[in-house]
Amino acid sequence: MKNEEATELLNKLLNGEFPDENGRFGPFGGQFAPETLMPALKKLEKGVEQFLNDDSFRDELTRELQQWAGRPTGLTFAGKLSEAWEANVYIKREDLTHTGAHKINNALGQALLAKRLGAKRVVAETGAGQHGVAAAAACARVGIPCVVYMGSVDIERQSPNVDRMLQLGAEVIPVDAGDKTLRAAIDEAFRDWVAHPDDTYYIIGSVVGPHPYPLLVRELQSVIGKEAREQMIKATGNLPDAVFACVGGGSNAIGIFHAFLADTEVELVGVEAGGKSDSLGENAATLASGKPGILHGSYSMLLHDADGLVQETHSISAGLDYPGVGPEHAFLQSIGRVTYISATDDEALEAVRECCAAEGILPALESAHALVGARKWAAQNPGKTILIGLSGRGDKDMPTLSKMHKDLFKE
Ligand SMILES: *Cc1c(COP(=O)(O)O)cnc(C)c1O
Repeated sequence: MKNEEATELLNKLLNGEFPDENGRFGPFGGQFAPETLMPALKKLEKGVEQFLNDDSFRDELTRELQQWAGRPTGLTFAGKLSEAWEANVYIKREDLTHTGAHKINNALGQALLAKRLGAKRVVAETGAGQHGVAAAAACARVGIPCVVYMGSVDIERQSPNVDRMLQLGAEVIPVDAGDKTLRAAIDEAFRDWVAHPDDTYYIIGSVVGPHPYPLLVRELQSVIGKEAREQMIKATGNLPDAVFACVGGGSNAIGIFHAFLADTEVELVGVEAGGKSDSLGENAATLASGKPGILHGSYSMLLHDADGLVQETHSISAGLDYPGVGPEHAFLQSIGRVTYISATDDEALEAVRECCAAEGILPALESAHALVGARKWAAQNPGKTILIGLSGRGDKDMPTLSKMHKDLFKE
């Protein structure tokens, strides 16, 4: 794409012309959904239009984000990392939110929207259980029953989060179909929604799915970047030179990037899961090595094989282990405004250790990918100011981390 063309598309995005009336960001996004789902999607579109910028809705959301979810989250100057990397490193602390990750911003916003739309029950999907826990907590707070679909393989792997959801009053339904993980759980949640379009609301967990979800979830997560941009200016008198965030479906990354899109001097870098290797099936680096395709109602980048079959993915961090990515990221990549790189499992583990030792912060394995990207960039660009979106805390990863320790001590 020519430079002028990319600039024009970016300006359209900044002017609110994307997604367009068909829910597209350039060629990406849209509504690739069965006829039976269209009435529910149209109703949601109307609801988003009516409430997203409605003063009383925004006031209620802001109040709940502050009183219940712990916003605004802090901005921490990372002194030891700064010394080690020869940079000025600042960390935006989504790990300090209620339930421990940025996911609560979205779950709370959508639960409040569900109530405004008169929903009598909420359905949600979850992979590692983080979004399920956030949705269960938000629904308890708002007062709507919550049903969470979760692959049976994930239920085995993530039993502490299953217990948390049950404790918070949600019903957890195991999904034995398909890959028995996140992809199948999303399919089941859509199926439930189609079967109960009148009384049910579907809280999707990232900036994926058919229009208007990528727009809705981005708007709810953009609070991260709005806060961080102000906090950086207050702390340094300037904007950062570069901003880093990990990318699974892409919601925390879009959330922190959006406030900086117009600041074209600020480099934006998304870090995907490089997993064990570059080979298909051994990572979840959708933007780095995928091709366009349709998954879960949206046209975006996708990891699939030559026959168009969606690939199994791998990442040590369950939250990044997804073969698709939000359409707005595919668009931002195509116009060159955001760069996407990847970090391997081993690099992420090492970054967890480094961040714990240097700053006394235990990051989620997902978030550690952003630290890896930032460290590599700093090595190429000494003396710069860097902002890292730390999407969540690592307590949930203790089983994985302890196993690594045991392996170390065995030697
Ligand atoms: C779920 C999760 C992610 C990945 O989701 P995005 O939509 O890409 O943000 C990243 N970090 C944490 C801590 C998560 O729980």
